[in-house]
Amino acid sequence: MVLDCSCTTLTPEIVCLSDMRWNCVHPRLKHILSRCTSQRRVFFIEEVIFTNQLMGRLDISQDKTGLVVVIPSLPKQLSDEDINLDLQRLISAFFRENSIDNYIFWYCTPKAIAFTRNLQPQAVIYDCMDELPTIKSIPSPLQEYETEIFSLADLVFIAEQSTQAMQAHHHPNIYVFPSGGDGDRIWTTMMKLIDFAITTRHQEGTNNSHQATLSYKPPNKVVNTDLVFDYLIVGAGFSGSVIAERLASQCGKRVLVVDKRNHIGGNAYDHYDNSGILIHKYGPHIFHTNSRQVFEYLSQFTQWRPYQHRVLSSVDGQLLPIPINLDTINKLYGMNLNSFEVEEFFKCITEPKEYIRTSEDVIVSQVGEELYQKFFQGYACKKWGLDPSQLDKSVVSRVSTRTNRDHRYFTDTYQAMPLHGYTQMFEKMLNHPNIKVMLNTDYREIEQVIPWREMVYTGTIDQFFDYRYGKLPYRSIKFQHETHNIPVFQPAPVIHYPNEHLYSRVTEFKYLTGQEHNKTSIVYEFPQAEGDPYYPIPLPDHKKVYQKYKALADHTRGVYFVGRLANYQYLNMDECVGQALLVYQKIVSTPVTAFHD
Ligand SMILES: Cc1cc2nc3c(=O)[nH]c(=O)nc-3n(C[C@H](O)[C@H](O)[C@H](O)COP(=O)(O)OP(=O)(O)OC[C@H]3O[C@@H](n4cnc5c(N)ncnc54)[C@H](O)[C@@H]3O)c2cc1C
Repeated sequence: MVLDCSCTTLTPEIVCLSDMRWNCVHPRLKHILSRCTSQRRVFFIEEVIFTNQLMGRLDISQDKTGLVVVIPSLPKQLSDEDINLDLQRLISAFFRENSIDNYIFWYCTPKAIAFTRNLQPQAVIYDCMDELPTIKSIPSPLQEYETEIFSLADLVFIAEQSTQAMQAHHHPNIYVFPSGGDGDRIWTTMMKLIDFAITTRHQEGTNNSHQATLSYKPPNKVVNTDLVFDYLIVGAGFSGSVIAERLASQCGKRVLVVDKRNHIGGNAYDHYDNSGILIHKYGPHIFHTNSRQVFEYLSQFTQWRPYQHRVLSSVDGQLLPIPINLDTINKLYGMNLNSFEVEEFFKCITEPKEYIRTSEDVIVSQVGEELYQKFFQGYACKKWGLDPSQLDKSVVSRVSTRTNRDHRYFTDTYQAMPLHGYTQMFEKMLNHPNIKVMLNTDYREIEQVIPWREMVYTGTIDQFFDYRYGKLPYRSIKFQHETHNIPVFQPAPVIHYPNEHLYSRVTEFKYLTGQEHNKTSIVYEFPQAEGDPYYPIPLPDHKKVYQKYKALADHTRGVYFVGRLANYQYLNMDECVGQALLVYQKIVSTPVTAFHD
């Protein structure tokens, strides 16, 4: 029988094999499998029934959720061997006729292994949540089937009450689910674990084949499942990835990196767009540092393309170099000053202030009111949603001006872009057998079911503490990416728009990456209040709230708070790497203080 199921996607289908009738299965399994039908085809193969008919057959029906129930029936008085051969033949034909070729096996009974060995699932789950196998009590050959299924399974699901018994089994991925509890949450977690198991199989190159997993040898020692991950790392950006890499490669720790986004790299993530141009999803990321240690550390994972960043600012209808230099002043005022003369010019326009309290005071005292208004005020208003007169002096501690014609935006010792992009660099960092990466996952979905010892947390600190003292404000950005059918869009990598338009700047990526292409991709940045958290808003009240969260963090044993979101602090990429390397040193020199299960 060929089924008419519209729900066919690339998501592997689920084939559950049980020795129960679908109508009699535990309500929890029923809930979980029924819910899966919204995403994929789900087949439930029941225990065989024996009849007086001469030939074996499968009776197929669908319940109201679309789940397909398969009931095998066979002639009476067959030997065990013939039963398994007939079932294998019937089920293989059923798979062929219904194009079931991308699927996972969800075994609720070890017996089913005897007639499904020939098939090639994407992953194998052994679910003994509702039926506790106790090896001593089960007869042969069931015992052999059970041993076999443990060696095949990517995941084993057990119920709370069976924890002790199951710890005697040799399996590294046993997950305990409470027997009661929130069915939706269990469903979400199980789906994450399944996705993870499939990804892990691919990562480990098990070739998707049953045969390949058959060769898996369970470890000789009893595995204490509580020790599976030494570190749960929340966030796959610079902060999380550096610490994961160090812990795995230098200390042999088992690390699980979880990110709620669908990619690694955090805000530094880059990818090829539809036209094949390498772009930075979250706006331009220019690498620059004075730290030799940071540069050498990252150089293990990437080659570099030397790159000096340049920025122009759109002022009074002209595009002028920023930071302000000799050319900026000459072009803006139609003059022809030399370096000495422009130094005198700066001296004349500065407006010394008795008290420097705000960012406005800092800028005006260094470049005067006119240049402040033309270049800085509007830009800061867009960026922060606040006038510089409302921002603390620490936000702009110094305005860089030059009396020469140096057009570089940064003057750091090391200025370069990863030759093949940031994402490829992150892939190399995380490509270690001790590191597993789980994407599309908020850590709260899995923290209770995947065992870990200590956590490195790089998400927002207020979220970690359930916003106990309120939400910490961030400035966000809407990125509008475009591709144009021309080789060059603008005369500089980045152009600032302090005074006109709603966007604050436009970036053309090919300048940054050096890529050659007959089209070009750009991004407009529209700063806004709502959206992903990008820039902590530096106001004293916010700092006070952060300090309260920090006090909680300081008393949270076994969790390290790292990076720009967990420290509510704007950090450049190199600063994140430097900070992460320091935290790694702290982790290795601190005895493990907490244990989570
Ligand atoms: C627009 C913009 C431009 C920038 N340009 C530059 C530049 O040119 N040069 C420079 O040096 N720096 C730049 N930066 C700064 C740079 O992005 C940061 O220094 C760096 O990305 C911070 O790394 P991180 O790992 O601390 O945080 P992130 O990169 O933000 O990584 C944190 C990760 O944690 C994940 N996460 C959060 N909560 C959870 C959760 N509950 N569960 C699971 N995962 C979670 C997030 O999805 C995220 O991927 C720029 C930043 C922005 C916003």
